[in-house]
Amino acid sequence: MSPQDSFHVRYRKTSPIWGDESEAVNTALTWAVHRTVVASDPKATARDAADLARDVGQTITKDGIGARRAMELFDTVALPASRAPDDPYNLAYIPSAPTRAAVAFDTVVSTANIFGGTWEAGSGAIHLENQAIAWLISLLDWPASAAGAFVAGGTLGNLSALAAARHAADTSRGRPEGGWFLACSEGAHSSVAAAAQILDVGVLTVPTDARGHLTGAALDEALGARTDVFAVVASAGTTNTGIVDDLADIADVCEKRGLWWHVDGAYGGAALASPTARAMFAGIERADSFIVDPHKWLFAPYDCCALIYRDAARAAAAHSQHASYLEAIDRSQFNPADLAIHLSRRTRGLPLWFSLATHGTEAYGRAIDTCMQTAREIADGIDALEHLELLVPPELSVVTFRRPGWSRAEYARWSHRLATDGVLLIVPTTYEEETALRIVVVNPLTRADFVLKILSETMR
Ligand SMILES: *Cc1c(COP(=O)(O)O)cnc(C)c1O
Repeated sequence: MSPQDSFHVRYRKTSPIWGDESEAVNTALTWAVHRTVVASDPKATARDAADLARDVGQTITKDGIGARRAMELFDTVALPASRAPDDPYNLAYIPSAPTRAAVAFDTVVSTANIFGGTWEAGSGAIHLENQAIAWLISLLDWPASAAGAFVAGGTLGNLSALAAARHAADTSRGRPEGGWFLACSEGAHSSVAAAAQILDVGVLTVPTDARGHLTGAALDEALGARTDVFAVVASAGTTNTGIVDDLADIADVCEKRGLWWHVDGAYGGAALASPTARAMFAGIERADSFIVDPHKWLFAPYDCCALIYRDAARAAAAHSQHASYLEAIDRSQFNPADLAIHLSRRTRGLPLWFSLATHGTEAYGRAIDTCMQTAREIADGIDALEHLELLVPPELSVVTFRRPGWSRAEYARWSHRLATDGVLLIVPTTYEEETALRIVVVNPLTRADFVLKILSETMR
């Protein structure tokens, strides 16, 4: 970074407490501008705590170490020990590929420091967040009376939605003697089981069809004559294989039985924005609650989950906090704080809003289509390579495959070598009780031919 790239803002007035913080401001913001436009290092990877302790030393001291030194430690030690989620060849877990507009606006959100919990404190910013939510509501084909809020992640989104569902069931049906159960398939994300544990409800695991989908028939059979189920969770894009449950049939069952239906689209819900993929989600217009993580496949930075309710009044009934010091809150609006397990919150939906406002919604559909096309090309290529076996063809943008004959240790060695070379990040998973690999494409810059070249050269 050259000196002429630097900011030179100066405080007009130094603080009687903190003195002149100009150097801290210049150092941090210059770095942020630079980082917004340069690619991240794919070799960055986690290190041992003991090594980090040695290289960082003691930073919290009586007199402070100064902004320049602190920034240098972040840049040269901490960042290289933190993986680059937005590298186009990071295909592990579910990576992230925020637009530069969204990343830049995240800095704006941070510096504006708006309290986004209540309308009274953050109405303007919340209004803009709500326009992004309204776009998602339109993609769901839900009535305009639906409302939502941005929370930190899918885990908190699922928990908040299920807490609202449980509250609604407690109110309308009364808690059963043996406690409540939620129904979902084995493919449901781990956060659903975590939510069940926190809510102290049981999990009714419904068997899936041969390809891993939760179907209406299996759900109906598993529910049988039970009256202790308060909610059904369907996946609109499972994390391990990226498949979409049979939403329309599940909708029928939930409707018939009067059950709260939550759709977890943390990863795959983004594909609602693709005109070509929308048909896969038929039935979603009848769900009661829904989440999607814009930090996964809607090109926003961490951390951001959109949580949406068909009838937000039912969520507010479960989540509103009341106290003498909160009496001034305007409850004639849905306050984001009323819709989830939080009160103070940053307006974390604004980077998505800014990027959507900048690029328009059609660009989002095209970017998502590009990722799905890339995943299909990778899957076709894997299918054609005789040393590899395609396990689950992509419905969205997850490709699951294996290298027949390899042990778990061989997979781990291969994955580690490519990661440390900074070539490709793919990590092992388990599919049908055997080691497998999954590729998740959420970055429109990922090129199928490059991925296939590496798979063909390194996995023989
Ligand atoms: C990632 C994911 C979650 C959890 O979201 P976080 O933002 O990581 O908390 C939940 N459900 C599904 C389907 C996911 O892919």
